[in-house]
Amino acid sequence: MPITDDDHGGYVAGRYRDGSLSDAWTDVLRCAPGTFVRFVPRCACGWTGRERPATPAASTACMQEWFVSHVVPLPTREPARDALMRA
Ligand SMILES: [Zn+2]
Repeated sequence: MPITDDDHGGYVAGRYRDGSLSDAWTDVLRCAPGTFVRFVPRCACGWTGRERPATPAASTACMQEWFVSHVVPLPTREPARDALMRA
């Protein structure tokens, strides 16, 4: 599981038949086929991406979406720049 910093950790959540989502500790690809109806990219910060079919390829696409759509646009934390902007 890629970890970018303390607040952001992407994972693929599985949507169970009752509509609930699996947690960050569930490896959706190791669960029995049919356990999940959909895969959903999620982040430890609460971000949720687009639902996809519950397939291995979609699991990869989920992690790509998490990185490209969520991690890349995050503002970089540069204390020096923040200090300049406040001056
Ligand atoms: Zn995040």
